[in-house]
Amino acid sequence: MPHLLSGEPLHDPLADPAPGSVNEIKCTTCYMCACRCGIRVHLRDGAVRYIDGNPKHPLNQGVICAKGASGIMKQVSPARLTQPLLRKPGSERGAGEFEAISWERAYELLAERLRHIRATDPKKFALFTGRDQMQALTGLFARQFGTPNYAAHGGFCSVNMAAGMIYTIGGSFWEFGGPDLDRAKLFVMIGTAEDHHSNPMKIALSKFKRGGGRFISINPIRTGYSAIADEWIPIKPGTDGALFMALLHELIRTDTLDHAFLKRFTNAPQLVVLDEGEHEGLFAFDPNPEKGPPGDGRNPHNKLVWDKTSGRVLNAYPEGIAEGCDPALEGHYRLADGTRVAPSLQLLRERVAPCTPEWAAAITGIPAERIRKLAFEMGHAALTQAFDLPIPWIDAWGKQHPTTQARPLAFHAMRGLAAHSNGFQTVRALAVLMSVLGTIDAPGGFRHKAPYPRHIVPNYRAFNAPEMIQPNTPLNAAPLGFPASPEELAINPDGSPIRIDHAFSWEHPLSAHGLMHNVITNAVKGDPYRLDTLLIFMANMAWNSSMNTMAVREMLNRKDERGEYMIPFLVVCDAFSSETVAFADLVLPDTTYLERHDVMSMLDRPISEFDGPVDSVRVPVLPRTGECRPFQEVLIELASRLQFPAFTTAEGERKYKDYPDFVVNFQPQPGIGFLMGWRGQDGSKHLRGEPNPKQWEMYAQNNCVFQYPMPEGMHYMRNWNRAYLDFAKDKGWRQKNDPVQLALYSDTLQSFRLAAQRKSQGRQPPESLRERIATYFDPLPFWYAPLEEAASDLMAYPLNAVTQRPMAMYHSWDSQNAWLRQIHSHNYLHVNPITAQAAGIDDGGWCWVESRWGQVRCMLRFSEAVEPGTVWTWNAIGKADGAWMLAPGADEARKGFLLNHLISEELPFGGGTISNSDPVTGQAGWYDVRVRIRPADPKEAEESFPQIKATPAPPGVRGVGERVLRYFAKGTKS
Ligand code: SF4
Repeated sequence: MPHLLSGEPLHDPLADPAPGSVNEIKCTTCYMCACRCGIRVHLRDGAVRYIDGNPKHPLNQGVICAKGASGIMKQVSPARLTQPLLRKPGSERGAGEFEAISWERAYELLAERLRHIRATDPKKFALFTGRDQMQALTGLFARQFGTPNYAAHGGFCSVNMAAGMIYTIGGSFWEFGGPDLDRAKLFVMIGTAEDHHSNPMKIALSKFKRGGGRFISINPIRTGYSAIADEWIPIKPGTDGALFMALLHELIRTDTLDHAFLKRFTNAPQLVVLDEGEHEGLFAFDPNPEKGPPGDGRNPHNKLVWDKTSGRVLNAYPEGIAEGCDPALEGHYRLADGTRVAPSLQLLRERVAPCTPEWAAAITGIPAERIRKLAFEMGHAALTQAFDLPIPWIDAWGKQHPTTQARPLAFHAMRGLAAHSNGFQTVRALAVLMSVLGTIDAPGGFRHKAPYPRHIVPNYRAFNAPEMIQPNTPLNAAPLGFPASPEELAINPDGSPIRIDHAFSWEHPLSAHGLMHNVITNAVKGDPYRLDTLLIFMANMAWNSSMNTMAVREMLNRKDERGEYMIPFLVVCDAFSSETVAFADLVLPDTTYLERHDVMSMLDRPISEFDGPVDSVRVPVLPRTGECRPFQEVLIELASRLQFPAFTTAEGERKYKDYPDFVVNFQPQPGIGFLMGWRGQDGSKHLRGEPNPKQWEMYAQNNCVFQYPMPEGMHYMRNWNRAYLDFAKDKGWRQKNDPVQLALYSDTLQSFRLAAQRKSQGRQPPESLRERIATYFDPLPFWYAPLEEAASDLMAYPLNAVTQRPMAMYHSWDSQNAWLRQIHSHNYLHVNPITAQAAGIDDGGWCWVESRWGQVRCMLRFSEAVEPGTVWTWNAIGKADGAWMLAPGADEARKGFLLNHLISEELPFGGGTISNSDPVTGQAGWYDVRVRIRPADPKEAEESFPQIKATPAPPGVRGVGERVLRYFAKGTKS
């Protein structure tokens, strides 16, 4: 019998395929996306054979996804940069003409330039990074340099999610908290496709579904997780806020509220001043500062409530929560001096009164009856199906709670809510919805992860005055933060922005993550000033990380009247030959994640679990390729050469040998460092302790992860849990141990509005921005149409267009990955057949997609999994020809396309322009664009538009040419 037809295996899978070889397994942490799963890298004779999930890792418990397993192909990518590169004298930016230089020359060049900028005008240096995982280091570098011009990618990712939630409940989704699917009965996922918390979410969803939980997905598109939802509710993009307002309307109308929770743990009963004037819309206070316990972050707690039992005004704390007191959640009252006041929930009640399901149906496309039923289902899950866990706890005011009440209604939301210019208020509405049902840090609801919850508003202040920029001097405040009032904005005395991206200015006051998407445009305009050097790490600004991509590429090349580039010196650090690398003046080749040390730190974005803090590391499992050096090492080297105070000893010597040395020994507070495990001289202390010289080894011996299980009594209700609040303060996670009352009503937002209305003293917005601030800084959530809608003719551009990240690729990173390219080598525009046929376009046909701002030509596929008013595609599959070392004419360039060409980074405003972003946070409005579609002429070329002229391969790029993997068991080396 032919062997292939026999039952005998082709080979013995358990036999050693290469006798005599050295087989090793090394543990580290994945970075094929930002979820940070534990992985095992299997090596034979030092070369990677395969990568699998680490079963001993708490995050992914052995699960690995297609991306994670394909890390081997990233390691051997033809697009790997291997040498520092300098643009050839006389060559044009974007032409990709470089000469290889040594690291010493690169350091000298850069250090000399930066030294001069730091000694003269530090703000002329800007550092912006993509999805890096070491913002505690990059932020420290910028602060020590003395420039305010620093941010990571959050402004174009999901700052609305972070800020909207943190300003309301003190925490947010994903790294900072998430749905407790172990105990939920109903799970509502809204505005989430398949990114963010990928493997943990898949594990949790499979258990949840097997356990009989009900999963509802609300999204314009049914992809990713939504594929296994019990019900898909299509919704129009940018209208989620209207849905939340209608759900709040229904819950309040039917009195489906967690009254006890609202009265004790939120500002719902606190009295808001209604009389016009400087206190209008702020909480009424007892003027005696001695009254009540210390404040919740920035504001004192001596606010007031109306006690229904006694018919009197009382201090909210402690009288308002004393036995026998029954704070009113409704009605209008007067203080002793005649001031008119009302509980903040009364104001929310009035706000949502007109937001009927019928009103929301017309906006969202969801039938009113379905909205009503959804409100009922949510209330039923949270309140009727509630149960108690036998976990006693004591709250911040000393009350003993014999059990912990579960609220088995969980939500998860992400970029679908965030990436709109109305996203901040939409996320606020969701957080308020979750709060009125008592689901915050409750079993079965939303649960925080350490170091969250933070104070509302978090206790650190943003950089806020031009005098803080001084030559050769670190900033005395972090470049990023959470402003609590106009006094904390980064503005000049005339109200103009201090930062190059206009973050923390009156244009976008609460831009906690900066506005990376406007840096190039503003710098080229000289608005508010020209830069000298822009250092970009891991962000593809000449392609998918920019809106209006072609214009940004032109701007990178634009020169002034003297023939100098508008951005004089552009430094790009990346591991791969991306589209942006071609525009660099200096290229710094980064390592891959398998070649370097990294930390997922409590000072930054740890991988904490609900039950306790978790941090993790990467350790090199492979030698570095070529001359590659990790960006962290570059920063430590530059900081040492420039003699930043934090990197220099009292004797003027270099303080840290390298990055691993820095991680072990740097302490922002005594006993607190980048890593919390195995501290103390002998590694016997955890969370807090002196530096341990063997800390890296101990992480490496323990699966590269440290998990600290907190006692059960600290697992829930952590906004108010006495034991947790004391513990978190002791461990340096927060500055105070005060409770964090949920801000259903935001007096922080009102403080900005009062300034805009000329009702408060202090900083005032420019005249041109008063109305904008007064409109969007509403202390109560509300829905408004995305700002793009006022700029586009909705009749001419009737469709919403959305671009989302595919499950198999992480941004533009993976187009050079030989395995993942087999899943997505090009993308289509996915359109409901009704919409496509109405436009006369066939399944698989070429079409034009046009917005007010630009047009692309692409291929279209019919899809029933998208609501008819929306078209969508995968992000960053389309590539510039020749980038990423793809062969000329590769599918990515010829058939793939980028939706970014249709999106403007600016919108018309007041006779000029303003960032196409949320007016509160500066979050890029990626998902607001309006488009129309039409068939391409059959005579047109069957290729996507626009096409980019290919650039030559940079010197030293790895390229193809060696056989990188053999598939057969008896193959030998990689
Ligand atoms: S989910 Fe992300 S981090 Fe986890 S294995 Fe996949 S690519 Fe790696």
